[in-house]
Amino acid sequence: MIEHKKGILVIVSGFSGAGKGTVVHAMMDKFPGRYKLSVSATTREPRSGEKDGVNYFFVTREKFEKMIADGELLEYAEYVGNYYGTPRRFVEEQMDAGYNVILEIEQQGAFKVKKAFPDAVLIFLTPPSIDELERRLRGRHSESEETIQKRLAQAAIEAENIELYDYLVINDDIDGCAVSMDRLIESVQKKTRYNQERIDDLRAHLQHYRKDN
Ligand code: 5GP
Repeated sequence: MIEHKKGILVIVSGFSGAGKGTVVHAMMDKFPGRYKLSVSATTREPRSGEKDGVNYFFVTREKFEKMIADGELLEYAEYVGNYYGTPRRFVEEQMDAGYNVILEIEQQGAFKVKKAFPDAVLIFLTPPSIDELERRLRGRHSESEETIQKRLAQAAIEAENIELYDYLVINDDIDGCAVSMDRLIESVQKKTRYNQERIDDLRAHLQHYRKDN
């Protein structure tokens, strides 16, 4: 029986403040070896505690534009005045090695990736309420009121496209949410269309039992 299987591309989007980063990191901790997280490049300034190469690759606009020109990005988008993009090589290598790769990206990028990889699974993560969203954004204490208002305005626009995602997951409790995301991905992996190699293998082994050839 063949064991090699290509990983699934999992795209997690959600309003800024939905807790995507926290949930995704909880998934990495709880299920070691099942997921690889893509680290994006961005032109935004690091928040306190963020590390280059861990949270993001923090780059200048010039460097980002060179990455675009050199075809190094799988997708990119401009969000609240900054560029964000997914380095292509890491994603392709890890999927080929059989890992499920998680992209934590905003909508424009999510839909671009879905076009290039129709099998990608699109998950939209939301806090339990908009009051809670505002509380989380203000609780960060790292952003000005103007930026918070911009992020809420952006959320209002993003809410228009939620139906284009495959799944809606509510982040009311980090650990519970991480487990339900993992279960969701596990059941997606059982879809026949993700298991063509195995199906072909079963057929090949049964071929000589056929009475009709
Ligand atoms: P933040 O500044 O809060 O870290 O991220 C702002 C938004 O950019 C979030 O919605 C985040 O998911 C998104 N984002 C992060 N990396 C990427 C990326 O590589 N591509 C795209 N399209 N969006 C990204």
